[in-house]
Amino acid sequence: MTYPTQPKASHFIGGEYVEDTAGEVIEVIYPYTGDVIARVHAATPAIIERALQAATQAKAAWAAMTGTERGRILRRAADIMRERNHDLSVLETFDTGKPLQETTVADATSGADAFEYFGGMAATITGEHIPLAGGDFVYTRREPLGVCVGIGAWNYPTQIASWKGAPALACGNTMIFKPSETTPLCALKVAEILHEAGAPAGVYNVVQGMGAVGSALITDPRVAKVSLTGSVATGQKVYAAAAAGLRNVTMELGGKSPQVVFDDANLEDAVSGAILGNFYSTGQVCSNGTRVFVQRGMVDAFLARLTERLGAVVMGDPQDMATNFGPMVSARQRDIVEGFIAKGVAEGARLVYGGTRPDRDGFFLEPTVFADVTDEMTIATDEIFGPVMSVLTFDDEDEVLRRANATPYGLAASVFTSDLTRAHRMAAGFEAGTCYINTHNLAPVEAPFGGSKLSGVGRENSKEAVMNYTQTKGIYVAMNPVEAPF
Ligand code: NAD
Repeated sequence: MTYPTQPKASHFIGGEYVEDTAGEVIEVIYPYTGDVIARVHAATPAIIERALQAATQAKAAWAAMTGTERGRILRRAADIMRERNHDLSVLETFDTGKPLQETTVADATSGADAFEYFGGMAATITGEHIPLAGGDFVYTRREPLGVCVGIGAWNYPTQIASWKGAPALACGNTMIFKPSETTPLCALKVAEILHEAGAPAGVYNVVQGMGAVGSALITDPRVAKVSLTGSVATGQKVYAAAAAGLRNVTMELGGKSPQVVFDDANLEDAVSGAILGNFYSTGQVCSNGTRVFVQRGMVDAFLARLTERLGAVVMGDPQDMATNFGPMVSARQRDIVEGFIAKGVAEGARLVYGGTRPDRDGFFLEPTVFADVTDEMTIATDEIFGPVMSVLTFDDEDEVLRRANATPYGLAASVFTSDLTRAHRMAAGFEAGTCYINTHNLAPVEAPFGGSKLSGVGRENSKEAVMNYTQTKGIYVAMNPVEAPF
């Protein structure tokens, strides 16, 4: 079978596709069939240098444009992304294996939202005026950082390329984006669209490669910032490398987020939240609520309704709009998740749904639910990054808040209850960057997204992202004679 997925070339630099076949071959595997659907080459030192030069050369002219002009280009890119949503969604599905039913509403659309939002905001990024004694004053300028490096994970290749690119460019920076080597295809389309929308050559570049390429980029003295979406282990390495040059960082890392369901919650909403927070994208979402704490009085009803609704899972061809549960991104990731399921069983959790590999091609794994999970079991402490839900039981609010926070991670947390004051108390008490009341896992561009503790540094989306892609310059203006001691 032939697939419409082979890009024109591996990299997009200085406004055009470029190739260097001396780079190591990266095979792109379609998770539904295991077929190789494209081949790209990892960036060689020559390609890395070309990208750094392009982004450096483009920096001054891009920063000198008004926010209105930059914003117009980004908003045009948003329009093109929306017009091409179908084709971009099909590509995202080939790249990741996520069902088209999902990618049609969650990937290019979310990228377009980011370009539209930050495009609209670009002209409003300004400093402030600070009056001082005697008529003196200070004014501030919010200035771009310079060349920013974006490094992506494999679960949302279009969204991550856009969530990093849109605020970076709106603020007047240029970007070199390195997608995950597992899903290298979609970011090239983002670069192509930005260029078509009018972004000058070198403003947004894409280079392929493994960790070594990311590492070479972030240690180059021409680079001012790195924004990584990835695992905690990678985040620690990238943060340390960036620290040597005192580079600005945004770190969007892993999690083990709690979802707390009190027995006064709406059962249907709580189950929907748990499904969204564990099985969307086949569980490959960083903010998933994988520790579902259910109050004792509701546990039986919760599990009964959850397992009933899991009967509506449609596993199959991800390009078929009827499919609502796709394969995992790779054989390797499926093997890792199967290892966690085996540990869950071995450590005494009760398997109430799924747990096995269906007898079919592709990297499928059934949605899996464990009950009677205790806090110290591996499935309750480690990020699994697959379709595995752990249900834990609790009795009261203080206890569950303590247990929910007893993790080194702090990405997301949710509470389901009909008690208004308790909902806000819990939200205030959660040690997490992104909290939800009566829902889980929504990430609109208007809201800040990011983690505390080991889950990250900085925030993406919302006005907060502007703080993460600019620096403040303070300018003191004297309106009086200069007084000196002698
Ligand atoms: P990963 O950490 O293995 O890789 C992430 C990226 O970092 C890849 O592009 C990889 O090539 C690059 N990389 C690896 N080593 C590097 C190094 N030394 N220097 C520079 N770059 C390097 O993560 P993954 O397996 O692709 O993605 C899954 C992880 O990402 C999970 O932990 C998940 O929670 C996390 N994630 C977080 C968010 C968020 O917004 N917080 C979103 C999606 C995924």
